[in-house]
Amino acid sequence: MTDEFTNEIYYDDDADVSHIEDKTVAVLGYGSQGHAHALNLQDSGVDVVVGLREGSSSREAASEEGLEVTNPVDAASRGDIVKMLVPDTVQPTVYEQIRDELDAGDTLQFAHGFNIHYGQIEPPEDVDVTMVAPKSPGHLVRRNYEKGEGTPGLLAIYQDATGEAKEEGLAYAKAIGCTRAGTIQTTFREETETDLFGEQAVLCGGVTDLVKAGFETLVDAGYSPEMAYFECLNELKLIVDLMYEGGHMEMWNSVSDTAEYGGLTRGEEVIDREGMEEILEGVQNGEFAREWISENQAHRPAYKQYRQAEQDHQIEEVGARLRDLFAWGEEQE
Ligand code: NAD
Ligand code: MG
Ligand code: MG
Ligand code: MG
Ligand code: MG
Repeated sequence: MTDEFTNEIYYDDDADVSHIEDKTVAVLGYGSQGHAHALNLQDSGVDVVVGLREGSSSREAASEEGLEVTNPVDAASRGDIVKMLVPDTVQPTVYEQIRDELDAGDTLQFAHGFNIHYGQIEPPEDVDVTMVAPKSPGHLVRRNYEKGEGTPGLLAIYQDATGEAKEEGLAYAKAIGCTRAGTIQTTFREETETDLFGEQAVLCGGVTDLVKAGFETLVDAGYSPEMAYFECLNELKLIVDLMYEGGHMEMWNSVSDTAEYGGLTRGEEVIDREGMEEILEGVQNGEFAREWISENQAHRPAYKQYRQAEQDHQIEEVGARLRDLFAWGEEQE
């Protein structure tokens, strides 16, 4: 496994935008990533055409920024690089519409590996298949670029039909500002599996469940929901900010020795390592992907139920109330 994951890091000096200066990039989708890629490419002097459905509300927004907008099929037919920035669940359908527009030597490029890695999109052998993915939401990709700063990014090559996939990918990464900050070489497999594992076990699933479990434990034991909310959710941001700035040691150094000793001795008790390994296995063996694909085919019945339950949880009501009080407090300052 270590052989596959080389993880070289590239910066501006390793990349040359001239490799895509004579090319047209068709950006399909104009959401979080789409608008940022299209605008940064345009400002870097690259020809861009945005592909959106007739009647899409984003059409006007893109046109107002001076971008040329057309439908996805026309955009793909003109693009030498076709960048897939519609939602992952929609990509297989959009791919079916545009597949005949991919000429030999064109590039099909992604910002997440799910559909390639799990075989939902199977491109022809004579096109390059790459990934240039900022590790950040699109509005930051755009904002950083405008400030002259960069956003860390990923580069992966799935298929190199032309022999030029890497220099083209690096040129694209430079044009959207990712080599200013550093672009890490990875693979479709590593990006997809770490991304899914991270969002399920740690970032989105793990954290919300940790917060809910802490909140419920306190409330069930008779403590007030307001106190439980502050302790288990509100303070989390302060802790995470410290970890983000300076790692775990900065956090431990900033809290009391009592908090540090209690945390170091007790934290482990709440984590289920076997559960985490099972989550990773489900990602690796494709079980999660199959479940999510059929859930979408069935128009998301389970997803809607989970979402409703989350919305109905007491912590949402308490939080909304307290956040209002806080906003009020801040405005008075
Ligand atoms: P998004 O939901 O913000 O935007 C999707 C865009 O696609 C919208 O403009 C929408 O109008 C358009 N669209 C929807 N259905 C369409 C259709 N049938 N035909 C044409 N256009 C259609 O999506 P996003 O978050 O920018 O994600 C795009 C890609 O970037 C995904 O692969 C995602 O995994 C990846 N990514 C996202 C982030 C992030 O933070 N948002 C970060 C890294 C990578
Ligand atoms: Mg073409
Ligand atoms: Mg072409
Ligand atoms: Mg993800
Ligand atoms: Mg405390």
